[in-house]
Amino acid sequence: MVLRLAIPVPLRRLFDYLPPAGLNPANLQPGQRFQVPFGKRDLVAVLVEVAGDSPHAELKPATACIDPTPIFDARSRHFLQWAADYYQAPIGELYAAALPVALRRGKPADHWAEQWLELTTEGKGLPETALARAKKQQALLQLLLSSGRQSRTALNARGLNSSVCKALIERNLAHWVAGPTAPPPLEEVEPRPAPELNDEQRHVIDSVPATGFSASLLEGTTGSGKTEVYLRLMERALRDGKQALLLVPEIGLTPQTLRRIAARFPDFRIAALHSGLADGERARAWLSAASGVADIVIGTRSAIFTPLPRLGIILIDEEHDGSFKQQDGVRYSARDLSLVLAKNADIPVLLGSATPSLESLHNALSGRYQHLRLRHRAGNAKPPQISVVPILHQQLQEGFAPQVLRHIGETLARGEQALVFINRRGYSPALTCDDCGWLADCPHCSAKLTLHRRQRHLRCHHCDYRMREVHSCPQCHSRNLNALGAGTERSEDFLTHSFRDFPVIRVDRDTTASKQALDKLLEPARNGEPCLLLGTQMLAKGHHLPKVTLVVIQDADGGLFSADFRAPERMGQLLEQVAGRAGRGDLLGHVLVQSRYPEHPLLQLLLNKGYGAFARQLMDERKIAQLPPLRAMALVRAECEEPRWAEEFLANARDYLQALAPPSPELQYLGPVPALLERKSGRFRFYLQITAEKRGLLQKLLAQLSQWAEGNRNRRLRWAIDMDAQELS
Ligand code: ADP
Ligand code: ZN
Ligand code: ZN
Repeated sequence: MVLRLAIPVPLRRLFDYLPPAGLNPANLQPGQRFQVPFGKRDLVAVLVEVAGDSPHAELKPATACIDPTPIFDARSRHFLQWAADYYQAPIGELYAAALPVALRRGKPADHWAEQWLELTTEGKGLPETALARAKKQQALLQLLLSSGRQSRTALNARGLNSSVCKALIERNLAHWVAGPTAPPPLEEVEPRPAPELNDEQRHVIDSVPATGFSASLLEGTTGSGKTEVYLRLMERALRDGKQALLLVPEIGLTPQTLRRIAARFPDFRIAALHSGLADGERARAWLSAASGVADIVIGTRSAIFTPLPRLGIILIDEEHDGSFKQQDGVRYSARDLSLVLAKNADIPVLLGSATPSLESLHNALSGRYQHLRLRHRAGNAKPPQISVVPILHQQLQEGFAPQVLRHIGETLARGEQALVFINRRGYSPALTCDDCGWLADCPHCSAKLTLHRRQRHLRCHHCDYRMREVHSCPQCHSRNLNALGAGTERSEDFLTHSFRDFPVIRVDRDTTASKQALDKLLEPARNGEPCLLLGTQMLAKGHHLPKVTLVVIQDADGGLFSADFRAPERMGQLLEQVAGRAGRGDLLGHVLVQSRYPEHPLLQLLLNKGYGAFARQLMDERKIAQLPPLRAMALVRAECEEPRWAEEFLANARDYLQALAPPSPELQYLGPVPALLERKSGRFRFYLQITAEKRGLLQKLLAQLSQWAEGNRNRRLRWAIDMDAQELS
């Protein structure tokens, strides 16, 4: 008997081991974890299959079996294998990506096993009105009657402590049983009833079949009630006894989002999976999902790999968001994989966004997805009014036009809130010497250092290199240093000074180390006090602040002239999302967009006709240029301290591929070319771009290429295949 194991090493194969000594072969099941010796290390592997024999001689035995029962079910194993094949990734790394850290390190699942309180037959026979003279006991009885057994931690979180439980047990109405872990309890919130659906929302919900595979794109204006649609669709699955999976962008899983879901589903178990959790909490959330205990699973990208035995629907919020694509290691797209998973599980998947990606829009317009729309804002909210403020040849104050500052002042004076969007952290993006022209560069990247004045250092936003802030030029010792341009810190100083009577709240990655910090920062804004919000794209998403009536976009021109063909798409999404923060309540919203190119046709189209028309125009351009989503595209990436080697490796890769499949109108090669960020962390980076009319052909070529590359690798060179690459950087 031989174990075929997935081991977290960068090799595209399984590894054969003998079962651990003393293990009864009848207890072997795929999906269990094993401890194995690997070289000099001790690693955690997952059993993929049990084989009769092995082509390899002298197999070592695994050290121990960690799980008495599998933690990956058959569907999730199949799914992970599919993803490994599609992304040309080592299967061991996929299992590692699927597991939370504590389980990846081999901690047994029963470490988190819990006690569950369950009603006896006698208890189940009681009416809800029983035990009227003991209020707490009655509450406990009612809870167990309405939502089944409860874990000890969940009861404690509800204030039903062990003496209440004991009272029920002594009456022979309930008893403790051992069971799997429950998800970590969320903060207690008041249940909130659902609003009456409007006709558009009802139509959307009725259009998504309750069972069977279906894919839908929900293209709905900001504030149109998409979240409400997700909640109703989740509810339908939950009432059928199924699990619902909601994927959100990395910065979208805020306490506010969780509260909104918890308030709607007080009787269901919610597992939140995100990077802010401690290792143990994350393992609990994951295990509660994988064992089927959790009803609702809400998470960021990697949650797509969580086994969900009762899965009934998948919802992707802000499906256009870049964080659904992993940019290193296994370069998977959770959004794209959600379609594969839905198909495997034979369930519906809904992708929602106010600004759909061109990929999803293409699938909707070509009929592969059902195309659903919400064209109007929900409740009383009206769409915001947008105007462009030309800033070329204008007297600006720290980057702001005078009329913009006047508008901010008037908004605050009326007791409303204003939001200023600046897509740049730190104090200033460049520090130079006015005497000799010295520029603060990162020694390891082809990038400038950003001045962070609060922390008194210069920092590279690509490799995190830091140096102390300097006050004289390191080259000529002149003290005429000049910080060029403004980031959020500098604007904060300026705005605080200009609007002394109102709080200025800066929201960026430096002020919000934790999700809780963001929640706390936004508290005055949620309370409706007049205030000025200032921040990066962290402010663009997910927040519902009804008192924000003015949104200022300080610089709209970022995406207009980039070398990345996706830059205009991302710019359009960001502007529309930020603008969508205005006027979400009863008050009308205004958006002021500062631009040096107010006549630029793309900007005009976006601001006058909205993202929908803008995206369709971009689609036509992609068609002419034969780029995604009209073509499948992959990058072969290589990076090395020695640029020649990376370039040579890719040139050889291109020769190898062209010998298999010469270039043709259906298959094009470009490169090797330097990445947009040519040097990062001391390594020079290049890529080879392959676009193909048929995804299948591209897949076949990449599979062969990855075999070739494993054999032709220079040890000092890193290479990767980036299927459906999103970034050329
Ligand atoms: P989106 O996710 O599309 O940005 P939300 O679902 O957050 O929009 O809805 C925006 C606001 O409108 C929220 O305050 C929400 O409670 C409210 N809302 C949603 N649907 C309705 C409805 N049918 N009637 C009244 N208010 C609604
Ligand atoms: Zn100088
Ligand atoms: Zn750097």
